[in-house]
Amino acid sequence: MHALSCALMPSTPPLPFPPDAAEHMTADEIVAESIAAFHPRIALACSFQQEEAVLLDMALTARPDARVFALDTRFLFPETYDTWAAYEDRYGITIEAFRGPTPEEQAAEHGDRLWERDPNACCAIRKVEPLGRALAGLDAWITGLRRDQAPTRAGTPKAEFDEARGNWKISPLADWTVDDVWARIRERDLIVNPLHQKGYASIGCTHCTQPGTGREGRWADTGKTECGLHPAGGPAA
Ligand code: SF4
Repeated sequence: MHALSCALMPSTPPLPFPPDAAEHMTADEIVAESIAAFHPRIALACSFQQEEAVLLDMALTARPDARVFALDTRFLFPETYDTWAAYEDRYGITIEAFRGPTPEEQAAEHGDRLWERDPNACCAIRKVEPLGRALAGLDAWITGLRRDQAPTRAGTPKAEFDEARGNWKISPLADWTVDDVWARIRERDLIVNPLHQKGYASIGCTHCTQPGTGREGRWADTGKTECGLHPAGGPAA
């Protein structure tokens, strides 16, 4: 176990390892050491994609009561809600849900089908604002970002201090390929969102997700590539 002082934010506890050292640690080590250091002020952000199948297993192996949260945009696919229920059933956990306004409330304030007219505004309302509430009070969060998911994520560090949010952002799978992810899924017989087998490499809201490789099915033909959860890199949402 290593120690690092955080000069930027003395009120936030240090990582149990130097951020640069994370590059040479396994994902399992990063998850286990981070949860041991920060629980209960650390949580896994779960978007019910292939990466979270792996991270959920790592986190709950490290600590059966590890915290997990999800951003429920209320526009998730039925298969995603089924995966959510399957995770809770298999692991005996409750995934903390953070939600924005109902579709009716959003339409009343911003008009119908905001995701078509201004998807950035829609993501800000349904994802970014709920994420802020999810992260309030946390010293660290774990994401499923991988560097080869998109050019916007190529520089994703395994551990970094998010000065804007005041906590550690940990991406243990940053250097994993999608083949690495699926090898672990098979090895551990993990539950995966069935949409992956239906041609969806990346899974988000029903209104904005199509089948496709990489992230090409997200906001297809709009020029938008990220939802704003990871302004310095990319997300797992
Ligand atoms: S992905 Fe689409 S529907 Fe979901 S919050 Fe963003 S714009 Fe809205």
